[in-house]
Amino acid sequence: MQKKDSYDTICSYCGVGCGITVNKDSRGTLSVIGNDSYPVNKGMLCSKGKNLNYVAQDTSDRILHPEMRWSRNHPLQRVNWDTALTRAASVFQSIIDKHGPDSVGFYVSGQCLTEEYYLANKLTKGFIGTNNIDTNSRLCMSSAVVGYKKTVGEDAVPIAYADIELADCFLIAGANPAWCHPILFRRLEKHKEENPKVKVIVVDPRKTQSCALADIHLQILPGTDVILFNAIARWLIERKKLDKAFIKKHTVNFEECKQSAFQLTIGQAADRCGIPPEQIRKAAKYIADAKGFISMWTMGLNQSVIGVDKNVSLLNISLLTGHIGKPGSGPFSLTGQPNAMGGREVGGMANLLAAHKDLNNPEHRKEVSDFWGGKEIQPKPGLTATEMFNALENGKLKAVWIICTNPVVSMPNAHKIEKALQNASFVIVQDISHNSETSKYADLLLPAAGWLEKEGTMTNSERRISYLPKVIDSPGEAKPDAEILWEFAQKMGYSGFNYSNASDVYDEYCLMTKGTNIDISGLSYDRLKKEGSFQWPVPHKEHKGTPRLFQDQRFHTSDSKAHFNAPQNIYNQSEETDLDFPLILNTGRVRDQWHTRTKTGKVKRLSTHIPTPYLEMNKVDAYLRGLRDGDIAIIKSRRGTVQVKVQINFDIREKVVFLPMHWGKILNNDFSRANNITNDLVDPVSKEPDFKYCAVQVSKYIKP
Ligand code: SF4
Repeated sequence: MQKKDSYDTICSYCGVGCGITVNKDSRGTLSVIGNDSYPVNKGMLCSKGKNLNYVAQDTSDRILHPEMRWSRNHPLQRVNWDTALTRAASVFQSIIDKHGPDSVGFYVSGQCLTEEYYLANKLTKGFIGTNNIDTNSRLCMSSAVVGYKKTVGEDAVPIAYADIELADCFLIAGANPAWCHPILFRRLEKHKEENPKVKVIVVDPRKTQSCALADIHLQILPGTDVILFNAIARWLIERKKLDKAFIKKHTVNFEECKQSAFQLTIGQAADRCGIPPEQIRKAAKYIADAKGFISMWTMGLNQSVIGVDKNVSLLNISLLTGHIGKPGSGPFSLTGQPNAMGGREVGGMANLLAAHKDLNNPEHRKEVSDFWGGKEIQPKPGLTATEMFNALENGKLKAVWIICTNPVVSMPNAHKIEKALQNASFVIVQDISHNSETSKYADLLLPAAGWLEKEGTMTNSERRISYLPKVIDSPGEAKPDAEILWEFAQKMGYSGFNYSNASDVYDEYCLMTKGTNIDISGLSYDRLKKEGSFQWPVPHKEHKGTPRLFQDQRFHTSDSKAHFNAPQNIYNQSEETDLDFPLILNTGRVRDQWHTRTKTGKVKRLSTHIPTPYLEMNKVDAYLRGLRDGDIAIIKSRRGTVQVKVQINFDIREKVVFLPMHWGKILNNDFSRANNITNDLVDPVSKEPDFKYCAVQVSKYIKP
């Protein structure tokens, strides 16, 4: 029950999706505390969540009114909503008339609410007639999506957070949950404190804060994850530590997995990974002895040119040991953004359809277009994130509508993104922040409502759907993203967008899921408000949700079996190091910042932890370059330069350096933007970029 002036909502940062109670005093001042009764966090919040009230109330850089320029040489000028959306519709229509529907695109965000994502997808695929809608979730989760689909037939995280307390072995790979998913990490920490026999294996080229829990840290060379997972698989197969009954009855392609695993001996694999073979055997034994085994991973595996191979080779381990669909067992990809999962549910990617229907399937395309009553859905996948900006650069894509994301800082090879936006005929930026690095490229700037200023739903990393109420009014003329989208659709003359509120949109989407594997036709805002959150599927009004998938060991593949997959490449095939660029750059996140700091950057106390960008470097590499702790280093790749202070330790492997990705332009220079130098190569299937492996040189900055 909602108390007066006290509202239960969800944190707007990471995919853990903690419950927050927002209190509003008589003067309208907000305070936040963790929601004790919310099953995810049980009252806990991390530093970012605890400070969300400051972000919500700081309107200093908010876009307050629509702003428009008549041509690139003119400054942005305030206009009213009608003028703004009429212009958006007339420019989009004239570009579509002249160049076809594929000449426009939408680039959206895992921070959008489900209703907004659904509408953007319906508008683009169902009415404009192009599949050119992609999301910044492409940059974090798309390799995991493909991995799940290939293995269990569905983009579906099988487990619930409650499984953490039931497992006795964890493999955390390419993730630093201590900093990036802190409340989940706290649950794991508590579980291990109470159960000292619980084993934690951490796989990371850096000794991160998550290693504090590690029984074993496999400090592998960047790009060797598949070799490691294959070596673990080989050990399990050789020692017959398999769930043979599960493999025989519920899986296919075991021989392919075996063949791949046996390409290298454990000794050879250890050499390639740069770790002792005993460590691989020890980790494999922990997994073999486990009654409940959970693998956790995120960007270190996903953001790679072999991201899908890394995913499937890790998923193979869960299948070999039968650790899926059982209490305390299963693969568990950690989502970076609060609603990346919800976005995938409604098909908010260039190659997906709503309700997990398949773009390649003509029947599914027809079902979706019939349901919407719009155009035929095109079979050709749309442009993915990097493809979209490449197409803007080469002129094939003329107009882009960017919603709730800051690609000028977050996309790889960022100078190319700036060129692409300069080259575009028309750029719409719909956001809260006036000062984001992307806003300045807008021909039309649309003020969006922020967290607490609109209602809607989100899905967290464990498939948990929660309702977020409107708590405060937006500043100026800002509007909910969903409203902006349906008003634009009406201006375009499209039918089926006569909504009066977000609840109408949600009801439509819930109905669309009926009979699918992600059926939530039993849900409504009323139910979510009265009964709290639910994990999908929720197929009827009495259904209580589904904490764990595949308990009947029937998977969502065509033969209902889980599929082993042999990775196509076992080693990262991205950029080679050489004498000019001898080090491998890895990028990532720090504890108190989030994405491109458009929100966390507003909270002074969050900048006390790590106030400035830095380069983490091994002492040996620093010594060889005459660098001391705190010196300014110049980091160069084949694409650009970064200049930041160096932080020296022995926690990172030699020949590997690390840059946080949050900082964009500071004082009008872009010296600290990590993506000046990153690589825009992508995984060939998931199209996820490789932010974790680019060749760089580092030297000491000497004042001229
Ligand atoms: Fe928010 Fe994630 Fe922190 Fe929870 S762990 S409070 S969801 S940032």
